[in-house]
Amino acid sequence: MKHLPVAILFDLDDTIIRAYAKPVEAWGRLLSRHRDALEGSVPGADLDAVRDAILASANAFWRDPAEAARWRLDIGGARRLVVRDGFARLGHRDDDLAARIADAFTEMRHAEYTLYPDARDTLSTLRRAGVRLALVTNGRGETQRAKIERFDLAGFFDHIQIEGEFGRGKPEPDVYHHALGKLGCPAREAWMVGDNLEWEVVTPQRLGLRGIWYDPDGDGLPAGSGARPDRIIARLADLLIDEAAARASAT
Ligand SMILES: [Mg+2]
Repeated sequence: MKHLPVAILFDLDDTIIRAYAKPVEAWGRLLSRHRDALEGSVPGADLDAVRDAILASANAFWRDPAEAARWRLDIGGARRLVVRDGFARLGHRDDDLAARIADAFTEMRHAEYTLYPDARDTLSTLRRAGVRLALVTNGRGETQRAKIERFDLAGFFDHIQIEGEFGRGKPEPDVYHHALGKLGCPAREAWMVGDNLEWEVVTPQRLGLRGIWYDPDGDGLPAGSGARPDRIIARLADLLIDEAAARASAT
């Protein structure tokens, strides 16, 4: 596999583990489990309206990069504020119910974390091929370590770097420089793989890495996105395919 680079940096959430994907579906499902409580508390509650208000609140909440960096270390607390604000958007206030629903969502997500089916095989093939691997993930140390342990991932990586432990998170350039330094690899010899266009494509490219966008649901680039990934993959195992050679042999 001569096309492979010296090193690959991987994102964790929604790249190796399916964690926060499809929020519209997930919130709809969670709220339907709490239909009775919602209808008792919010007169005339329409579950779709509650879901849309929560999603609008979440979008607004996570938009400020400095605030987002702070709250990434307390996702459960952030969700309580988001649901409370979602209720407020509907002219309603019930902080207890908001907290209960937010916590139930956090629990549901936690219970549903799952490895992407080809994650382990792909990581072990890359390792056997001699590629140096780093896991570079944002979030709280304990939270991310628990996921790494639950799915027994530590053994695949030469370096694991978590925002809450390192003190800085993607997309700060330090994060990438530090990980590359730990792997002893110059940026031009490295790929970054992940689902976040800013963190795993645009910033790494600016620093000289190749930015590979993971798009497991085949959503395609969002309309208006200026990001130009070096490659878009729908499966992690696609990393093992020499795309240029495959294209050449197809023509
Ligand atoms: Mg991610």
